[in-house]
Amino acid sequence: MENRVDCLLCGTCCTAFDIKEIDKKAGERCRFLSPENLCTIYEKRPWGCKGYKPDELCVLVSTLKDEEKVKVFRNIYEV
Ligand code: SF4
Ligand code: SF4
Repeated sequence: MENRVDCLLCGTCCTAFDIKEIDKKAGERCRFLSPENLCTIYEKRPWGCKGYKPDELCVLVSTLKDEEKVKVFRNIYEV
């Protein structure tokens, strides 16, 4: 059975990873991320973004400060 995790809108995944299609570097907040941490190009977001789904890691880092969340993601995913 699949454990479903809801997105907590923390914006960490839209900061931590590099996304070549939109020339976004790892650790850089995506320019398409709104102040409310919503994707402003959601329907046309890059393939790499479409493939990413919230999981237990989102919950595990949820109590950390934003910059710490990004650090944890980058360490775990080695980006
Ligand atoms: S890191 Fe997880 S909870 Fe945060 S925005 Fe991305 S998918 Fe949502
Ligand atoms: S394009 Fe959208 S989903 Fe992809 S990193 Fe930027 S804000 Fe996040």
